[in-house]
Amino acid sequence: MALRNILKDGDAALLKKSRDVTDFNARLHKLLDDMRETLIDANGLGLAAPQVGVLRRAALVVDTSVETEDIEEQIIELINPEIIASSGEQEGAEGCLSVPGVYGLVKRPRLVKVRARDRHGREFEAWGEGLTARAFCHEIDHLNGIMFSEYVSRYLTDEEIEEMRRERDEDGA
Ligand code: ZN
Repeated sequence: MALRNILKDGDAALLKKSRDVTDFNARLHKLLDDMRETLIDANGLGLAAPQVGVLRRAALVVDTSVETEDIEEQIIELINPEIIASSGEQEGAEGCLSVPGVYGLVKRPRLVKVRARDRHGREFEAWGEGLTARAFCHEIDHLNGIMFSEYVSRYLTDEEIEEMRRERDEDGA
């Protein structure tokens, strides 16, 4: 495995629509393995292939509702994902590894159902609630060239970010 460089806001690749994955081969597995390492290293909740410069529909989401000490067990690999159902609404702070240190309030569905393929091409469905639903939406947006900043109603102040970090530390998240 190897760390990949995470593209930063302003890079044209982040605004492009990614193409479907068609080959579930060793090259895809290497990409996913590298993305896992990069995501864990960056301490993020999700990472999409275009963020590492690969315009293919592959993304990772950390499902924080899975109770484990091992983040590897919380990572869901999504290949060619689509949202097939959603309900409710939540507004909360959202950030992006491509826009470090910036958080904004974004409305998302509270509950999201996703259909995707795994790294071997097998189709599966997954529900996400709360933070996980937010991460599903955020990462699938990346595959369509959409940045979360398009939806931000208000950016958090430095004080609010500090407070959010303290709360998350207390949660152990
Ligand atoms: Zn992002």
